[in-house]
Amino acid sequence: MISSKTFKEEVLSLAKTVHVMPREIHIQAMKRKWASCSSKGRLTFDKKILDECEKMRLKVILHELLHLKYPNHGRMFNLLLDTYLEKYGERKIEKRLKSNDHQGKEMI
Ligand SMILES: [Zn+2]
Repeated sequence: MISSKTFKEEVLSLAKTVHVMPREIHIQAMKRKWASCSSKGRLTFDKKILDECEKMRLKVILHELLHLKYPNHGRMFNLLLDTYLEKYGERKIEKRLKSNDHQGKEMI
């Protein structure tokens, strides 16, 4: 489990990547959804998200952040979501490979 502080930092760092700025980030118990986004830019996440793996958190966070650009699940929304998931996932893998390399050499 990660702390809500770490989670909020993840949200803010991804918000920069996506070029949006959530006005408020809340974490609380939610019954039916992982997260929601208000028209005023307030994001609310279910506190159970803190127990989820990084990949799942990334999906949920990106989904809500993109709603700050597109309030629906239209073509552009899905296209951007796929693009960011792919990009962000790749960068993570690259970082991990480099940090595992004790010789200081590039692995890719
Ligand atoms: Zn949605």
